[in-house]
Amino acid sequence: MPPPAERGFSFYEKMTEDKIGKIVIEMKRAIHPLKSFFTPAQRKVGEYFSSSTLQQEQEERIILGAKSCDLNALKISDSVYSGEKFGKEYKDPFYIEARKRTLIISSDCVSPDENCFCNLVGSKPFPEEGFDLNFSFVEEGFVVQIGSEKGESLIKEYDAFFSSASQEMIRKMEKRREKSIKLLEKSNREFKTGVPYREVVKDSYDSPVWKEHSESCVDCGGCNHICPTCRCFLLADRRYCQK
Ligand code: SF4
Ligand code: SF4
Repeated sequence: MPPPAERGFSFYEKMTEDKIGKIVIEMKRAIHPLKSFFTPAQRKVGEYFSSSTLQQEQEERIILGAKSCDLNALKISDSVYSGEKFGKEYKDPFYIEARKRTLIISSDCVSPDENCFCNLVGSKPFPEEGFDLNFSFVEEGFVVQIGSEKGESLIKEYDAFFSSASQEMIRKMEKRREKSIKLLEKSNREFKTGVPYREVVKDSYDSPVWKEHSESCVDCGGCNHICPTCRCFLLADRRYCQK
C-alpha cells in the first residue's frame, strides 16, 4: 500500500503491478491516518444467537511509507487498544490482531511541507521507533534500518536485494535529516513556545477559540476518522437480517 504522489497529496493505495515505479515514499504523510488500517469506520463486533467468534481478517499486509508523525500517533492507539492504558479488560482483539498481521515500513520526510509541525511536539521528520523497517532515501538508493524482529525476518528472506550501507550513504542520510530539521525549524519559527504544546492546550481550556471554531461544526464525524489519534466511537445495536 504505497502512497503515490497526486495533487501534492498522497493517499495509501493497494499495490498493483501498474503502480510499480510510481511509488513515492519520501514526501510528507499520506492523508489517511495509519489508524484507518486498524480501526475501520464501521465494524461488526458481536451478534446475538451465536456463540461462534466473529471471523477476523487473516490477510498479512505491508504498509509502505508511514511517517514519523504517523508512528507517534499509532503509539497512542496501541496504548489504548492493547489495554495498556485502561486495563486488560478493555483490550480490542480486532485491533490487536490487525496489528499482528501488519508490517510497517516507514520512511524519512525529505521535504517537510509548510503545514508540518512535528518538531513543535517533540518529534522529528524521520522515524526513530515504532517501525518494522525504515527507508531513508539517498542518491545511491535507500538506507534501511531494522526496527523489529518482523522487519529483520523480511530482510533475511529477501537478502539478495540488500547490501551493507556504506559510511558515505549513512553520512548522506544524516545530512538529509539535518536539512529536514532545519527546514521545519525555519517554517515553524513563529509558533515556537517555551512550554510543551500539551501544556499550552491544557492552559487554554477556557479559551473562546474552542467555541468559535466549533460553531460551524455540523456533526458529520469526519474529523473523528481523519484525526490520527481520535478514538471516539459508538456502539450501536442494529437489527440485521441475514439472507
Ligand atoms: S515532516 Fe513531520 S509532520 Fe510532516 S509528514 Fe514528516 S513527520 Fe509528519
Ligand atoms: S469534520 Fe465534521 S464533525 Fe468534525 S468539526 Fe468538522 S463538521 Fe464537525
